[in-house]
Amino acid sequence: MGEVHGSCHCGAIGVSYVSDGPMAGRRCGCGFCRRHGSLYTADPAGRLSIGAAAGSLRSYRFGQHTADFLLCAHCGVLVAVAAEIDGVLRGVVNLAVMEPPPDLPSDIPVMDFEGESEEDRNARRRRNWIGRVEIKEVPS
Ligand SMILES: [Zn+2]
Repeated sequence: MGEVHGSCHCGAIGVSYVSDGPMAGRRCGCGFCRRHGSLYTADPAGRLSIGAAAGSLRSYRFGQHTADFLLCAHCGVLVAVAAEIDGVLRGVVNLAVMEPPPDLPSDIPVMDFEGESEEDRNARRRRNWIGRVEIKEVPS
């Protein structure tokens, strides 16, 4: 799939994602992701880079509080989810922020992770999430 780029709506946060795997989309059925309509992809061998202007990155935690849902503080767009697991920052990226929008099949699976233990959740993220995530501040 190569490299794709995207941003939040106002442009304060830019993302670039590199993966050699297929661009598979997943929806998460939890109440937060459903409200955002976020469309996630991940590849353990992939690389995600998030560049945010000072003060533009807001993180939201809920449920087990093990992951940071990364939102633009100005326009409210959810760009990615990140969690540090065993000292490594991993994550999933929201394909809905990519420009141009990715061409994906209409029957995107909706995942249900409710009821998962914290241990199972970390194991799944270690296995499936993007293995290299970098968040840096960029000049606005
Ligand atoms: Zn924004």
